[in-house]
Order: sequence, then structure tokens, then C-alpha cells
Amino acid sequence: MTAIVSVERLDKSFGHHAALREIGFEIHAGELVTLIGPSGSGKSTLLRHLIGLTRADRQSHSHVRVLDRDVQRNGRLLGASREQRRRCGYIFQQFNLAGRLSVMTNVLVGHLGAMPRWRALTGRFTHQERDKALQALERVGIVGLAHQRANTLSGGQMQRVAIARALVQEAEVIFADEPIASLDPRSAREVMEILQRINREDGRTIVVTLHQVDVARRYCRRAIALKQGRLYYDGPIAGLTDARLQALYENAGLDEL
Ligand code: ADP
Ligand code: MG
Repeated sequence: MTAIVSVERLDKSFGHHAALREIGFEIHAGELVTLIGPSGSGKSTLLRHLIGLTRADRQSHSHVRVLDRDVQRNGRLLGASREQRRRCGYIFQQFNLAGRLSVMTNVLVGHLGAMPRWRALTGRFTHQERDKALQALERVGIVGLAHQRANTLSGGQMQRVAIARALVQEAEVIFADEPIASLDPRSAREVMEILQRINREDGRTIVVTLHQVDVARRYCRRAIALKQGRLYYDGPIAGLTDARLQALYENAGLDEL
């Protein structure tokens, strides 16, 4: 099986604080994996290493590969090509949209990595591009909002736009960092259902950090759990038994469960 994501001996410190220690795992094509663990356990830091936003420790033997490309090796970041960026979709907790631009433009920005700025700003797209965007918006259930400004949308709608963008750029792997943390329960459920659907129907690989165990249990088959920067568990989500969860969250606030 092809590894879509491969991580070996990943170490990251911030000053004297060890944020990640000896992390290693592989994620294969078509998986929907949750990265889980208490607040501060290193989930976002790990995800940022996968997408090349953060560099591992210089003296480390860390190795991160995504889609057959080295993202980093031995504490060196290897810049991503435009094609590599197209193949990876990102969704963050804080809705990363251009608020003053239309939903349509936000959706097409990923596809048109080479799009001149003026085209983005004037919203002059070809029929083909528009069709593609509308199809993606249809799939995430907000085709009627195509011509609204992004900053008029609700949080749940903004996350759907981010997903539609990943669809239009035909991302093979989607990295989502706490995509539902700022949403009300109903929008959160809807966003998770959309992610689950595009994973099942298109076989797109999805790596999603979550801190709610119940959500992870409902939507993800495999969990990679971090505790204080170390790999605590990697396996079927069903294997995260109550006893293991208790140990995982032993020092965490009750609100995280
Ligand atoms: P999580 O996403 O699981 O809540 P993070 O990855 O955000 O955890 O953080 C892991 C640890 O690394 C925390 O102790 C956090 O304070 C620390 N950390 C994260 N980013 C930085 C940074 N840029 N500078 C210093 N410390 C950081
Ligand atoms: Mg985080």
C-alpha cells in the first residue's frame, strides 16, 4: 500500500520544551485518520510539520514525506512545488478565507494557483472554472451562496467553502486542524459528515485533528493519539478504550471530554 503520509523520528522543541518526541507513523491512501489528544499535546504542531509550516529540530533525524515528496529531512525544510501544494488541501479552525472576495473566488483560488491577482480580484473566470466551482459548492451544500462575500457566511458555511476549495484543486490529501472547534454542534456534525462523504466517495485521504473523542469515534476509524508530545496510541479508534482515554486525558480539563 502506498503511504500518503510518512513520519519518522520527528522531534520538535520550543526552547527547552519538547513539543514532539520521536513521532512516527504512516497514513495510507483512502484513510480518514484523526489526530487526537488533550490541548497542548502537540496536534497542531504535528500537522504544521506535515504541511511544511514548521521545521523539525536541526539536530534530529526527522523525516516527513507527503505524496512521495520529502517535506523535511534531518531538520531541513524542503520547499513545496506548486503541484505539491495543489495536491494538498488545508482547513483550519480559524476560517482561512479572503473575506471580501466572493465564495466562488475563494473556491477557485486553490485550483488557480497561477491565477493572476487581477483575475481573483475581478472574479473573471471561464465557464469551465465556474462550472467546477459550482459543482464543488453543490457537493458541500452551499451552491446558492456562490456570489456572496465570504465574510457574510457562518462558520459552518466557511468551512464548507474551504472543503469545496480542496475539491476544486483535486487535493489528494486534506489536512484539517480543528475544523469544527469553532462551530455549533449542528454545523460541526454537518462538516464532519461532508468530510466523511468525500473520503468515502472519492477515496481522498483526510487527516483531521479533533479534541472531542465522541466526534472522533463517530467519524474516524483510526486514531493517532498524542500525549505530551509523544505518540500515545495508534490504531483502530475502537481500541481507545475508556481506560486508555482516562489515562490520555488524566491531566486535562473535564470540558475536553
Ligand atoms: P495542540 O494542538 O494539541 O493543542 P500544540 O501543537 O498547539 O498543541 O502545542 C503543543 C505544545 O507546543 C504546547 O505546549 C504549546 O504551548 C507549544 N507550542 C506550540 N507552538 C509553539 C510556538 N510557536 N512557540 C512556543 N511553543 C509552542
Ligand atoms: Mg491545536
